[in-house]
Amino acid sequence: MIISIRSQASSEERSQLMALLCRISGSQRPITTIQIAGREVIALDLTQIDAQTQTALDQQTAVERIIITKTPYKLVSRTFQAENTSIVVGNSHDCAPVIVGGKSASPVIIAGPCAVENREQVLSTARAVAGAGAHILRGGAFKPRTSPYQFQGLGVEGLHLLAEARQVTGLPVITEVMEPEMVDVVVEHADILQIGSRNMQNFPLLRVVGQHSLKRPVMLKRGLAATIDEWLLAAEYVVAAGNPNVILCERGIRSYDPQTRNVLDLSCVPLLHELTHLPVIVDPSHATGRRELVPTMSRASIAAGAEGLIIEVHPDPNSALCDGKQSITPEQLQKIVRETRILANMMQEEADLTHVA
Ligand code: PEP
Ligand code: MN
Repeated sequence: MIISIRSQASSEERSQLMALLCRISGSQRPITTIQIAGREVIALDLTQIDAQTQTALDQQTAVERIIITKTPYKLVSRTFQAENTSIVVGNSHDCAPVIVGGKSASPVIIAGPCAVENREQVLSTARAVAGAGAHILRGGAFKPRTSPYQFQGLGVEGLHLLAEARQVTGLPVITEVMEPEMVDVVVEHADILQIGSRNMQNFPLLRVVGQHSLKRPVMLKRGLAATIDEWLLAAEYVVAAGNPNVILCERGIRSYDPQTRNVLDLSCVPLLHELTHLPVIVDPSHATGRRELVPTMSRASIAAGAEGLIIEVHPDPNSALCDGKQSITPEQLQKIVRETRILANMMQEEADLTHVA
């Protein structure tokens, strides 16, 4: 259930509503209101309430509207918000804003190295991906590696290099944050906070990126073996904590065939568009683990309706410190940008024609 509060409700009317909600939800957690899409709302897990409680709620003068959601996730559901969420990325003085989702026909391309390795590598890759037509630069400063002996990233130094790359190219930057304690410093340097697959259900981390006052957009990658409901509930954590700017990223799920690193679940894209208003992008690099598959799966992702792609690019993929096998060159990226743009335009033209007819 989502309760939308009247903007003119007095503090007395609000307190009355809160007291009633505390009573009927029996919740030990305080009831909090959040601002989303210009509305002040309260989301609660109250699906079945008796007639008496319903009447008591209906009589509350602070209530504007009650929306019943049948799904466990509420604020991210289409039932709550029919129109697509569009998210403004990188509204700072040294980069132009980029819109992810909403009505934009042009897919957003995020590209860059798996990991920030050194100044020369990140700056040259940033310039090259900007030249190839990418809109946002990616690069991991904190790397969640399977083995403790593998390159773990440059840490805060990597964040400084990403900020420098933004200044040089004008591209907003996305980077992963792995721990709640590091959110402040990552927010200071990055335009999008990436929550990696391994942290999709790191609930304290989700709460902190949700509560952060600057409401930096969060790109939430699908967990290694997460169901769609688990993924949407993880997104719900961020939104319910106060940050509505969540982008979902399909990056493949674990399966049994070692030929590809993961299995790219493209059916999740149109399905998510039914279930949620949040934008969906695809990461064909981690999904396949093989650079020769990245162009085809990029086109397939856009054809499936993804609002964007996140692709690993390295000037010399074979010497990359991380994920070289799935990294492509800037030249290959340029071709993907061209192809996906043509594809998206074609799909938009067709949609416009159908709309007119
Ligand atoms: C990455 O984007 O470099 C990464 C570690 O991705 P994932 O969390 O999807 O494995
Ligand atoms: Mn990677």
